[in-house]
Parts: sequence; C-alpha cells; structure tokens
Amino acid sequence: MPINAKDVDWVEEPPMNFWEATFLPAVVDGLRATGHHVTHFKPVTQMYPEVASDLPKHYRGVHRLNRDDAGRVKCVACMMCATACPARCIDIVAQEAPKDDPNWVDRDKFPKSFVIDELKCIYCGMCEEACPVDAIEMTHIYDLTGMTRQEMLFDKEKLLSVFDQTKDCGLDPVRTHKGKLGPASDFEQLPTLGPATQVRSDDRSAKSATPGVIK
Ligand code: SF4
Ligand code: SF4
Repeated sequence: MPINAKDVDWVEEPPMNFWEATFLPAVVDGLRATGHHVTHFKPVTQMYPEVASDLPKHYRGVHRLNRDDAGRVKCVACMMCATACPARCIDIVAQEAPKDDPNWVDRDKFPKSFVIDELKCIYCGMCEEACPVDAIEMTHIYDLTGMTRQEMLFDKEKLLSVFDQTKDCGLDPVRTHKGKLGPASDFEQLPTLGPATQVRSDDRSAKSATPGVIK
C-alpha cells in the first residue's frame, strides 16, 4: 500500500554558513585530534611472543575440568554447561555411578566422556557460569596450538591434565568459587552433593524460596 503523503515528515537539511561551506573548521578539528594523539603517544603494541602477555585476572583461556578432594572428576554430568554453550562445542556422555562402590555413593552420574572442541569455542565463559559444582573453569592459558583439528578436541583426560598443570600456579584460583566471577561464586559454601531425592510437587515451592541451597 503506498504511503500517504500527509503521513510523511520531510526534513530539510540545515543550510551551511560561510565557514562550514569552506570545511576549514572540520579540517582544523581533525588536525587538532591528530596532534593530540602525536603528543600523547603511548605504545600499545605488545612484543609477544618475546614478552609474555600481561593478562587480566579474569582472562578466559583453555578450559580445565577440576578434580574433587578424592581426585575424581568433579563433574556430575548434569549437562548444564553443554546446554548453556552457545557454540554447541561441548559433548558429554554421562554414565551412572556404580552404586555398590563406596567411593561413588555421593554421585548419581559422572561423565563417561567429556569433549570440548576448543576450535569451535568462543571463550564466552557461559559453561563455567552454568556449572553448579564449579567443575569446569577457564584458565589463563591462551597460547593454544595444534597441528590437526583432532588435537584441538580436548577430552576428559586432557581437560583434567590442564587442571593438574594449573591448580598450583597461582594464576588460576578457583574462579567461580573464590574469584567472584560468576553466579556460582555467590555461594558462600558450595551445596553438599548427594544422591538425587524425589521432590514432591508440594515441596517444590518451599524449596524454590531458598535459591542456591540444595537440601
Ligand atoms: S566458553 Fe562458551 S563457547 Fe566455549 S565451551 Fe564454554 S560456553 Fe561453549
Ligand atoms: S555443568 Fe559442570 S557438572 Fe554439569 S556437566 Fe558441565 S562441567 Fe559437569
């Protein structure tokens, strides 16, 4: 349907004055800005790799999978990170924890396999923010190289080895717990994990009134 002429607001271009028509004020402004940058010159180029980069504390580099106090992978295979990941680069296969093994009575599941495609990842940090048990975190490691795409698929063992490499280096505190860098850091004390219990529908509203506390 054609637009009715009376619905159109015509905007007239304001006429230029004499000096604006010469463009001299704009040229002078441009030269002033250029002169300011010349006289206040500060080098911004980093001489990497000769000089290591000085990274901010919250830099998001290669992932690690944390271990719990018993040395087991801390991940409980809840799939929250894979669900939150916008790049769809986390692939987890969950396995039921062996019920008759006393070492696993506090778990329902653990990851049988856990793979992150570090080439697809956009290093947004959503996975570590989504993780309810601070099992996945991003480290200061930024110089990630590989000769093949396959090498850039980090499996569970590789992600655990990144934890072993970085846990004592001082550059990677447990960011989401102590580092106050995500919603999970709001927990003063992380909730104790236990076997999942059946929550009756009439209990749910009472439980949801105390966010962050799993009873
Ligand atoms: S950092 Fe972002 S893109 Fe990378 S795995 Fe985590 S959620 Fe996915
Ligand atoms: S969100 Fe955490 S616990 Fe859940 S699957 Fe991912 S790493 Fe494991």
